[in-house]
Amino acid sequence: MIIAIGQMSDLSFVDDGGPRLDERGLLVFDADRQATTSPDVFASGEVVTGPGAAVNAIASGKRAAVAIARYLGVAAAELPDPDPIGELPKRLREGYVKPAPRRRMPARDSKERIEDFQEVELGFAEVDARCEASRCLLCGSGARYSQLKCVSCLTCVRVCPYGAPWADKDGLGGIDPAACQACGICYTQCPAKAIDLEVRSEEQVLAEIEEKLAGGGELEIGCWYPQSRVAPDAAAVLLPCTARVSVLMLLRALEAGAEKVYVAVCSDDDDGHFKHGHRQTQAAVAEARAALEDIEMDPDAIELVVVGEKKCLQGKGAPEK
Ligand code: SF4
Ligand code: SF4
Repeated sequence: MIIAIGQMSDLSFVDDGGPRLDERGLLVFDADRQATTSPDVFASGEVVTGPGAAVNAIASGKRAAVAIARYLGVAAAELPDPDPIGELPKRLREGYVKPAPRRRMPARDSKERIEDFQEVELGFAEVDARCEASRCLLCGSGARYSQLKCVSCLTCVRVCPYGAPWADKDGLGGIDPAACQACGICYTQCPAKAIDLEVRSEEQVLAEIEEKLAGGGELEIGCWYPQSRVAPDAAAVLLPCTARVSVLMLLRALEAGAEKVYVAVCSDDDDGHFKHGHRQTQAAVAEARAALEDIEMDPDAIELVVVGEKKCLQGKGAPEK
């Protein structure tokens, strides 16, 4: 394993007869096989490419893992090249997706700093760190569409606040990854389960719910942006936005033994991460409670708790329908 971290790689271990270095001090390697000039040494990341983006180093590490598996004769799935995402469409840039300014890192006063060599930056408080993380655009982590399962009902086209799903005159369609903001509203509504999310798919969340409830008890489903928990003693499953809560998740939690399921939701006037997210959450909870009533179970086993304080500071605006 070659570890490439920070701005320079420590290649002092490369002795004579080991992997060769080029004139820039990077490992000479074959990009197709992620192989260095030594037959049993593979490399990835900045130690072969020079400085670049972390995401490229991560992708390169995955390719190296596949190359190593193949070298060892272990079956490894091919990594498909991801489809290009493209630029955020102009109509979304101009008003629909709000810019989220960077938070200023707290730092020691300059008069103090010149006195010593102590750390200058003081670090974020948890709330600030979470807000910074929430500025992530979630590029490419949104909706994944299956034409095979799609029944062309156009529900996704109707419910998406960002106009990302499309359909042609024959009812065949897709989702524009550049426009998709990963709110998850479409996948909770698709009657054919033809949509899932690239990151935190419904299947993954269901598995997490079951795992968290292995010992019984209560469950809180909330969003992962700064907020106070509504049921601090309950096990928690956190999502980028509670717009992603599906009826299936709520019912599965009860099936898995939850004594009570709390769903924390923004108040109606809160400019949440995804503007219409709270409406979607309310609808999912109402539907799950109605399903409980239908089978003569107590609907209060699922409770929607409105979080009054403004908790999501990014606030992705969306056009009014
Ligand atoms: S909601 Fe689902 S089934 Fe309906 S058009 Fe969209 S992807 Fe197809
Ligand atoms: S509803 Fe949300 S997740 Fe679905 S396509 Fe639109 S932006 Fe993407």
